[in-house]
Amino acid sequence: MSTLSRVVPTGFDVETIREDFPVLKQSIHGKPLVYLDSAATAQKPHAVVDAIRRFHEVDCANIHRGVHELSQRSTAAYEETRAKAKKFLNARTKNELIFVRGTTEGINLVASSWGRGNVKPGDEIVISALEHHSNIVPWQMLCEEREAKLRIIPMNDRGELLLEEYEKLLGPRTRMVAVSHVSNALGTINPVARIVEMAHNAGALALIDGAQAAPHMKIDVQALDADFYTFSGHKVFGPTGIGILYGKSKLLNAMPPYQGGGDMIKTVTFEKTTYADLPYKFEAGTPNIAGGIGLGAALDYVNRIGLDKIAAYEHELLVYGTEALSEIPGLRIIGTAREKAAVLSFIIEGIHPHDIGTVLDRQGIAVRTGHHCAQPVMDWFHVPATTRASMAFYNTFAELDALAAGLQKVKEIFS
Ligand code: PMP
Repeated sequence: MSTLSRVVPTGFDVETIREDFPVLKQSIHGKPLVYLDSAATAQKPHAVVDAIRRFHEVDCANIHRGVHELSQRSTAAYEETRAKAKKFLNARTKNELIFVRGTTEGINLVASSWGRGNVKPGDEIVISALEHHSNIVPWQMLCEEREAKLRIIPMNDRGELLLEEYEKLLGPRTRMVAVSHVSNALGTINPVARIVEMAHNAGALALIDGAQAAPHMKIDVQALDADFYTFSGHKVFGPTGIGILYGKSKLLNAMPPYQGGGDMIKTVTFEKTTYADLPYKFEAGTPNIAGGIGLGAALDYVNRIGLDKIAAYEHELLVYGTEALSEIPGLRIIGTAREKAAVLSFIIEGIHPHDIGTVLDRQGIAVRTGHHCAQPVMDWFHVPATTRASMAFYNTFAELDALAAGLQKVKEIFS
């Protein structure tokens, strides 16, 4: 056992929390599972699994158009999640919350629907050097189509964005600034309120990719003054295939629909279709009803624990894990921002991340290796890939000891 200090915020009982996550109670290759891949997808508590099961076993029906009891129950449960998401993000009205497949679709919706109407040749879109591919490629596609220019906020060696360089990129041609709240590859927490403010001062809009922020910290879209904010259900302990896009209603009202089909219309004739009001204008077709209901249960679960408590506990895990890994000779942490979420990306001199991941897996430890859908970040640090241990509030100090011990074994095998 390590001698590093383990600080547990008062009232935080990780062992009780772990009881809610059946998946964590298993052995992998004969060793207790140590799940350190929550940035890729988080595990689901009983409450989420039960809500999805209940929908299928008790309430299952299509939503919005049914007068019968099951349809009404399903509609109510699904729409209840919209209300929960409003509260989770502190949006002004429920109409500002659009159900999407996840962060990727949220960004594509804005790039496509807002972008087509608002970006002209010569305009500029600003993103940052530490974005996930989901917040690069949709803007690149838009820029290609509209003959606009993509501009990149650079970062320093710690993985912190350079705001003075950002200031220089802003100008009369800037239409949109799109940055992540938290970097999945580095863990950097970006100063998004300031980034949004600077975008607005230049007359541009701002979209925040909240995929890695939603599981770790309180979000207030009004305080941030973000024009758009999006996150994925599966990273916030909910199911896959569901997420939320927040947009200011003034902007969403002015945007054309993203996709056409059922549920997004008011009237249809062969001559002309009129569109539904917000939020349905952006929700064509039968949605992921079970996913939406599961997401509602996940938001309730996270709120019950409390995001302030979660952030405080995870910070202690991060400090502990950073110290534990720093004691391993030849290991270099990639991403050392002063404001950082619970992500430890690293390389070990002379050992390929894939080999590290494979040896750790034999010890029951699940980490992610590769470019983490952030190839420009890898290029910036001149590494092909990293090994990434990403934490959630169900992880323990003992699991970080197991990771450090596992890495010692990796070193023995490959030295
Ligand atoms: N942005 C960030 C920062 C992410 O970490 C991810 C997921 N790794 C995404 C966007 C995309 O999320 P999804 O695949 O759930 O759409």
